[in-house]
Formats: sequence, structure tokens, C-alpha cells
Amino acid sequence: MPESTTHAVAVVGAGPAGLFATRALAAAGCRVLLLNRDIKPGGLAEYGIFLNKYKMKGGLRRQFSKILTDPRVTYLGHVAVGESGPLSVPALRAAGFDAVVFAIGAQGTKYLGIEGERLPGVYHAKDLVYHYNRLPPFSERHFPMGRRVAIVGVGNVMVDIANYCAHFCECEEIIAVARRGPHEKAYDDREFEDVEDAFDRDAYRREGERIRPRLEAAGQSADELLKALAARPEAEDRCRARLTFRFLASPQRVIAEGGRVVGLEIEETRLERKGERISAVGTGEISRIPCDTVVFAVGDRVDERVGLPYREGLYVTAPGAEQDPGAAYQVWDPAEGQPLADVFVVGWARRASDGVVGRARLDAETGIKHILKILGSRPTRAPAEAERPVTKIMHELGKAGARFVTYEEVLRIEAAERERARRDGVEEFKFASDEEMLALLSS
Ligand SMILES: Cc1cc2nc3c(=O)[nH]c(=O)nc-3n(C[C@H](O)[C@H](O)[C@H](O)COP(=O)(O)OP(=O)(O)OC[C@H]3O[C@@H](n4cnc5c(N)ncnc54)[C@H](O)[C@@H]3O)c2cc1C
Repeated sequence: MPESTTHAVAVVGAGPAGLFATRALAAAGCRVLLLNRDIKPGGLAEYGIFLNKYKMKGGLRRQFSKILTDPRVTYLGHVAVGESGPLSVPALRAAGFDAVVFAIGAQGTKYLGIEGERLPGVYHAKDLVYHYNRLPPFSERHFPMGRRVAIVGVGNVMVDIANYCAHFCECEEIIAVARRGPHEKAYDDREFEDVEDAFDRDAYRREGERIRPRLEAAGQSADELLKALAARPEAEDRCRARLTFRFLASPQRVIAEGGRVVGLEIEETRLERKGERISAVGTGEISRIPCDTVVFAVGDRVDERVGLPYREGLYVTAPGAEQDPGAAYQVWDPAEGQPLADVFVVGWARRASDGVVGRARLDAETGIKHILKILGSRPTRAPAEAERPVTKIMHELGKAGARFVTYEEVLRIEAAERERARRDGVEEFKFASDEEMLALLSS
């Protein structure tokens, strides 16, 4: 153990935000206990970033490994903090850390509240993404994909789902459904290159013409779109699936017959400009998009079952962030009208589904700066004293019969996975269940 420590901090969640928060804390001399729901660290960098982005994932894993082998850091995977896990928020707070930082991402599902949203064949993007990236238990559930898949949403996650449908399933048509128009698309053109070989340009041109009057009524140009389309290089090889767009369409219900999805009912919309913002307004005209699978890629919300104060998809943070930017990271107890002492949020746990890894990292590092400022005004601890809450939590987890997984054990799992990938001649192999990983560790 390092000879001097400053404070003891628990970080909950080992995605990019939790890991970069841990790095900043350890660099400032803090003793850090990093608790993670999943056995392996990485969060969406491990289980969200698209399947075959091996280089990007490899680069992040190397950075994470450096953080996790810092002697000031103890990683415990397979520990969900919250009402359903072996460690509740009050128990963690009572252990005596100087601060508890929640970096647990956005694990809740955002439902649109329309009929049929929970039917078989209707998925929420995060669950499907976790499934194909082999995160237990999603990896163990079936997510049958049909031939005609409607994806609601037009962000980067839609592009990933379309990529999965086009290149890893037997889909024939993928329809991206947007409430607003092509000018409001939220995906990056660079990301779209991954599905360019499925993109149906003729269908896009026809869609541009179909909605032309509604675009022009909102002061938007259809010609500009079609010109931009023509300027984009076409994919050399086409894939079997076709990716089309349906703009100005607000989902109303998923239609099923005999328990099977047969379509998505939408209301046509028109665009209305309110200052800088363009919003979609229903026209009352109803149509149906025939499809056998629907995926909602509309962003997520935080998990309200964890036990932190929650309001409208987010954890509640302190008021007054305009005067004191640190307040935006401080969890607030609205029932008591005061901060939840020494409890903070960073990353997607603070702003659900907000941006890429770099953004989550910046948010975590900014949050830690504010936290260190607060801790700076308190007495520092001797190493043995900083160790006390860490030992206490490990003892409590042991008492609760929780099987936590250390980083040394994660390295053993990863080595076995690499060996299996080498043997099978594949780029990457991941165990699909916690049981397989735990069995390997006890062998
Ligand atoms: C489909 C998809 C594709 C993406 N592709 C890219 C990309 O190509 N490039 C890019 O830069 N960004 C990409 N992103 C964005 C990037 O993944 C996020 O910006 C980033 O992962 C958010 O980091 P986070 O740590 O806040 O949350 P997460 O990454 O969600 O990490 C949360 C962590 O908290 C843990 N946890 C959750 N609940 C609990 C609990 N109760 N107790 C303990 N631990 C808990 C989880 O196990 C997880 O390890 C993608 C996102 C998605 C959804």
C-alpha cells in the first residue's frame, strides 16, 4: 500500500466514467474502492461499443488496465449496489468513506408509453446491444430478429442496431423511424459509413420528395439533402439488407396479430420551429409501417431502483449549478431539502445517454475536481485509516455471501477468453454467463 493517502473514496460503476474518476482520485492520493455490477470492467466501452470495433475497445482496455493495477485501487466486480444487490446505498454510505461517487450509467429503460411496447419482438436498444456484446444475463436471453425491422430513433445507436441487423442477422429491410426530419438526424456521418453498403439511396430520394412540402413549410431545403446525398461516396459492395428512412413519423402503437408483431402504427408529423428548436407536431394522419420487429433506440434513463433520489429519468442533483458548477455533481435529497452528504454522480449516471466515451471521461474528471476541492478542506487520513472502510465493505460482502471478483481474477478470465479465441480462430471470445466465469475461477 502507498505510504501516504489523502482520503478514502468509493466509486460505484466501472464504465469509462467510473474508471476515469478512479484514475483522477488515485492520482490525487486517494484510496479507491471501485465496485461494479458486471464481473468485467468497462461498462458500455466493453458491452456497448460495436462488436467489431476491436481497435477502439483494445485501446480503452489498455487504459483501463493501467488504472485497475494502481496499488491505490481495489476493484470488486459482480457487486451491484442498490436495493436488489448485496450492498445497499445506506450500507455503503455507513462504511465511512469520505465520498461515494456513483458512475453507474443509465441502466433504466425509457418507455414511450405506447401500446405494444412490451410485446415479444419489441426490444429496447440497450438490451439488444448488451445481448450481442455478450453481457450476462442479456447474453443468455434470445432476441430473435425478423426480416423487417423498424428502429425508432436516428442517433448513433440506431446506426449500430442497423449494422447488427444488416451484417449479423438475416434481416432484409431495416427502417429507421424519426419523429422529425432528416435535418434533425442525430447520428454522425462517420458512424453511418458502417451501414453505407445497406443504405437504399433511391428510397431516400423518394422519401425526400415525399416530405418536401413539409420540409419547405418549415423553411428547410429538400434539395440540399439530396445534393449532400449525391456527394457522398457509395459503398463498393452492397449487402443483402436495405436500410431505409421514414421521417416525420411519430410512433403510436406496435400492432400485433396472434401475438406476433406485424407493424408499427405512426402518426404523420409536420415540423414547427420554436426559436432554435424544431419540434414535431402530429397531423392526425395515421399510417402503418409493416414490420415484424421493433427496436426502440431513443436513449435511456437512470435506474430508479438503486435507491438514490430520482426524478424524471435522472438522479436529483443540488440546485444552484449556475453559480456553483460543483452542485451539478452533488446528489440532492428533495425530501430533506439538503444534499445527500458526500454522495456524487458522474458520467451517464448524471446525464443519461449523453455522448461518447470522451464526454463521459470529461464529465467524470470535472466532477472529481469539484469533489477533491471539497475533500481538500478536510483532514487527511493515514493509510491504515483510509483502508478501514474498504476492509469493512469486503467483510460485509463476505458476510452477505456475495461472490465478488477481483481484478486479478478478471485478468484470469480474460486470459482464458483470449486462449479460446485463438483456439477457435476468432478475433474475440467472451463467456456468455456469470456462471461460466465463476466456474473458471474456482477451477
Ligand atoms: C450502443 C452504444 C454504442 C456506443 N458506441 C460508442 C463508440 O463507438 N464510441 C464511443 O466513444 N462511445 C460510444 N458509446 C458511448 C459510451 O459507451 C458512453 O459514453 C460511456 O460508456 C458512458 O460511460 P459511463 O461510465 O457513464 O456508463 P457505462 O459505460 O454505462 O458504465 C456503467 C457501469 O456501472 C456499472 N453499474 C451499473 N449499475 C450498477 C450498480 N447498481 N452497482 C454497481 N455497478 C453498476 C455497470 O456494470 C457499468 O460497468 C456507445 C454507447 C452505446 C449505448
